[in-house]
Amino acid sequence: MRIAVLKESRPGETRVAATPDTVKTLIKSGASIAVETGAGALAHFPDSAYESAGATVSARDAILSNGEVVLCVRRPDAETLERLPAKAVLAGLLEPHGDKEFAETCAKAGVNALALEFTPRITRAQSIDALSSQSNLAGYRAVIEAAYLYGRAFPMMMTAAGTIAAAKAFVMGAGVAGLQAIATARRLGAIVTATDVRPAAKEQVASLGAKFVAVEDEEFKAAETAGGYAKEMSDEYKARQAELVAAHIAKQDVVVTTALIPGRPAPRLITQAMIEAMKPGSVIIDIAAANGGNTELTKPDEIVEHKGVRIAGFTNLPARLGADASQLLAKNLVNLMPLLRTEEGALGVQWDDDIIKGMALTRDGSVVHPSYES
Ligand code: NAD
Repeated sequence: MRIAVLKESRPGETRVAATPDTVKTLIKSGASIAVETGAGALAHFPDSAYESAGATVSARDAILSNGEVVLCVRRPDAETLERLPAKAVLAGLLEPHGDKEFAETCAKAGVNALALEFTPRITRAQSIDALSSQSNLAGYRAVIEAAYLYGRAFPMMMTAAGTIAAAKAFVMGAGVAGLQAIATARRLGAIVTATDVRPAAKEQVASLGAKFVAVEDEEFKAAETAGGYAKEMSDEYKARQAELVAAHIAKQDVVVTTALIPGRPAPRLITQAMIEAMKPGSVIIDIAAANGGNTELTKPDEIVEHKGVRIAGFTNLPARLGADASQLLAKNLVNLMPLLRTEEGALGVQWDDDIIKGMALTRDGSVVHPSYES
């Protein structure tokens, strides 16, 4: 199987879809690997490290014409898709939610596109789940960014010169990113509270030593889908949640928001009025910024200051940990490979496997993902 690794082109993207380590693993499994020149540079993996691992490193033209499986972090542009060989398998974070046009472009180009975002949430697929591997790092990095922006210390410090109070941190959305944010803020010494609409989150928050704050009514008890994601809540629930949050948030120093509903705009959890009730110097890191943001004032990739409160809308926190994020994403892709090859090591997509069925946007020139059926 011939695998090609693309250099990412989005501004600010530092990640790469294969590392020298995963190249070694893939070669051991019988694949040949071609890496685009400079693909790993921003994640601190130089071309020479890929060559030492056994890959060939070449310019984009050679890469595109030769890949049976093409690995990327973010979706390539239409021109790149058209230059891929017919029946090439494209795997990466393809931002597929609700974007039938992208799927149609892949189909037209004869590319079989597999979106990591649609990895089913079943135990067997956990090692392929790139949303989790990347969200975990985003949660960690969000707290590091918050600690940097917040002009005070996180832990309580009792010194001869007086006592510094511990920072109060509130994490909204206790999924993969939120739980890591809680753990990181706790490690730094903050007093942490957290909220979520899924009841399963309550125990997980408590197990990390944080206090759970939520409207726990009948709707809350049924708010998790079979796939493990949150449902969109009713307007009544949202109003009660907002009331609770408004009172709580006014006492916080640091807020990390991570709330997402797959395929929908991020829920607006923090209003301008709530921000105005916060203390000057407080910081909000909105991990949901790329999906519209959890606050009314979030602007993608900007740090907005409003009445002394700063709201940071980083849209790609994993890229701020390029080497680690690449390592985990590349490992997710290695774990996908057995589903793309025959026992002899040739290209052979296992179309009947539930993981592939979940991820496939296109197959042999047609759009096949059920989410695009109208
Ligand atoms: P996500 O990124 O889609 O959403 C982040 C969090 O926001 C979720 O916990 C969600 O419940 C929460 N949220 C949504 N609306 C909210 C609102 N109005 N107020 C407060 N919170 C809100 O979710 P995620 O982090 O990818 O994962 C959610 C769950 O799935 C986690 O418990 C995770 O452990 C689990 N999971 C399971 C598997 C598996 O079984 N293979 C894999 C990955 C994740």
